[in-house]
Amino acid sequence: MNEQRRRDGRLPLTIIGGFLGAGKSTWLRHQLHEERFGTVHLIVNEAAETPVDNLLLGKAEQVEVLAGGCACCEGREALIAALRNICGNQDALDSRRIDRILLETSGLADPGAIALALSEDPILARRLAVDGVIVLVDALHGAQQLAGEELSRRQVEAAERIVITKSRGIPPGQVARLTRTLRLINPAVAVEGAELGVPLELPADLDAQPYELPEIAARAEPIKPYRLSIAEGGGWASLSVWLSALLAARGNDIVRVKGVVTSPDGRLLLQSVRRVVQAPEILPEPEGADRGPAPQDDIIVLIGRGMDEKLLARSWERFVLG
Ligand SMILES: [Zn+2]
Repeated sequence: MNEQRRRDGRLPLTIIGGFLGAGKSTWLRHQLHEERFGTVHLIVNEAAETPVDNLLLGKAEQVEVLAGGCACCEGREALIAALRNICGNQDALDSRRIDRILLETSGLADPGAIALALSEDPILARRLAVDGVIVLVDALHGAQQLAGEELSRRQVEAAERIVITKSRGIPPGQVARLTRTLRLINPAVAVEGAELGVPLELPADLDAQPYELPEIAARAEPIKPYRLSIAEGGGWASLSVWLSALLAARGNDIVRVKGVVTSPDGRLLLQSVRRVVQAPEILPEPEGADRGPAPQDDIIVLIGRGMDEKLLARSWERFVLG
């Protein structure tokens, strides 16, 4: 992956995909730290208007955040404009040369649709070459996502390389079945494991049976981001209680929660995947323009289906006041 520019002069672009909560930012942070991709321009796409994922990323030459629309659908034009801009800047004599563009997609994106859109753009087709689609699959939730979410299957179909994340502590037979299922969907794909970005050998079990992949009924409601302001609240303590209750009641509809919560200890990064609220991570103070825009504090983003921002706000208010 670390080869220099292609002989035809086109700039390589690698797409990193995977379902909500698969651990894309964590994995990528480690690869950047190890300089696996050379000198990169990193684009982080978030479907929500409140960017959070860029905070997790350390070492990239340049980080650019495209927030407020998924790059495979409503944010497609913004992505194309950003990529044309990068290509144009590379022509300037005094520009910092990059080896590669990395695109971290939102968990709602179909990487295949992005690759297609780029190949259909007359300017980008001459300037960029998509040289890899890496899709991350969470060992704990992956099978359930493949069974129930059309999008999760499309992501796997589009992948050239799949990284199974968070498999530590999961029974090996279960990981082997997931691996078999991934190969059933995409027989040509290379599958590897990683824990917090560090390669981890996957259990070999040739007898493992793939999970069944039932027909997925068309769903009326797409997964989308919902915003909630928690500025008028009781901080982390009340938020975690309220959120746990919400996830217990609506966990099937809420796939992911992210946000930055201010507290006396500093700014806390809040994340949940399905019903699991992760221990908050204390964020360093923002260091400058290179890290992309600072997120809005005390706004949390819930990604899921069938919710209502007003009802969420009312529920939170009632909890804090009551
Ligand atoms: Zn999309």
